[in-house]
Amino acid sequence: MNDRSSFVIVGASHGGVHVAASLRERGFAGPIHLISAEPDLPYHRPPLSKAFLKEPDGDLQVLRPRQFYDDHDIALKLSVRATQIDRAAGRVHLEDGSALAYDRLCLATGARARTLAIAGMDAKNVHVLRAAGEARILRRAAAERGRTVVIGGGFIGLEAAASMNALGHEVTVVEAAPRLMGRAVAPEISAHVERRLEQLGIAVHLNAPADEIATRGGVAGGVRAGGLELPADLVLVGVGVEADTDLAAASGLVCDNGVRVDGRLRTSDPAVFAIGDLANYDHWLAGGPVRLESVQNAVDQGRHVGAVASGVEEAYRQVPWFWSDQADMKLQMAGLSHRGRDRVVRGDPASGRFSVFHYAGEELVAVDSVNSPADHMAARRLIAAGVSASPQQAGDAAFALKSLIP
Ligand SMILES: Cc1cc2nc3c(=O)[nH]c(=O)nc-3n(C[C@H](O)[C@H](O)[C@H](O)COP(=O)(O)OP(=O)(O)OC[C@H]3O[C@@H](n4cnc5c(N)ncnc54)[C@H](O)[C@@H]3O)c2cc1C
Repeated sequence: MNDRSSFVIVGASHGGVHVAASLRERGFAGPIHLISAEPDLPYHRPPLSKAFLKEPDGDLQVLRPRQFYDDHDIALKLSVRATQIDRAAGRVHLEDGSALAYDRLCLATGARARTLAIAGMDAKNVHVLRAAGEARILRRAAAERGRTVVIGGGFIGLEAAASMNALGHEVTVVEAAPRLMGRAVAPEISAHVERRLEQLGIAVHLNAPADEIATRGGVAGGVRAGGLELPADLVLVGVGVEADTDLAAASGLVCDNGVRVDGRLRTSDPAVFAIGDLANYDHWLAGGPVRLESVQNAVDQGRHVGAVASGVEEAYRQVPWFWSDQADMKLQMAGLSHRGRDRVVRGDPASGRFSVFHYAGEELVAVDSVNSPADHMAARRLIAAGVSASPQQAGDAAFALKSLIP
């Protein structure tokens, strides 16, 4: 690509960094500006609730060393927020008063932690966990052992609960829904994880929406949830995220649970792309619009923008996958279960290693696995190839799924 136009990327995390890297890999020769509101060199976000939380002196894992940005002539600007997009003029304004001209722009502003509209949310020992800054504060607070209440039984809440448990905290999880990770995994997985966390000494309360964080002098002392009064020295609110559409919406781009993008990840303005946790797009596996929150989605969409901007006119079409590490359980999800109606269990949950296959009619649409990486890898390849193991094959743990991979 012999293109000298200017490319600006707002948001320098899993998505944004891969746009820049992919543009250079494909030979884009124009200026690339990568803008980050965060002060840290772009880093892997998943460890924040896992290893980083458990290791008092552990460092962030950077996505690329500093040298990478210099070597590839990527102008990375840290600690500065983009405040406005002037689409008519093709300019992005930054909070330091400067502005950058662009020919093409990619928004990779991701998502931010949702908070709860309940009393006590602003107490000083009440935490959310999205960025490294928040993780450092939480880790410092976690150094003193005590009673931790985690509000929210989704991936991040449960990962953090397992980490706090490993650090010696007395941990309680309260979840408003009738099961853990209810939007994301099969009921069999929810039940297994609940059992295992309880075996490890983590108390799990379902159907227990948090009503109030009781405070004294600005410090939380307990959580009231579903009629329970739970004493707490530290409260972590892990109730999901919302897409950070501030910039996009203010510039008039079409937003609806994130920024709407087409198959090539273009927003309602063809000069502007949106990717990652921010982007809402029609997915063939879901049969409708989805906004996915995963490293794989952000990375693959970042790469795809690099390709489209280089003239590859293909629609984005990757099988979604996701992982979550909770104590000794590695959860891995492939595909999307939105259209799934029937399920088949492969393996014995009591062994701690099994998978759940989701079917829409005869079609395999998703597989959720616990400590079964071979099932997960086979599922990704089968779904990508549009090949469905029959329910009988899936349910027979002795059957080699990989024999079906074309
Ligand atoms: C604790 C934790 C654990 C996780 N674990 C897993 C896991 O195990 N597996 C998995 O697949 N996924 C996991 N995820 C989710 C995964 O990290 C996200 O899906 C991924 O980070 C999304 O990448 P992104 O580039 O779209 O956006 P983000 O990572 O959200 O990055 C967006 C960046 O844009 C910046 N920004 C926003 N607005 C502006 C602006 N106006 N100007 C400049 N910069 C701006 C933000 O500060 C941020 O740095 C986890 C997330 C968290 C928080």
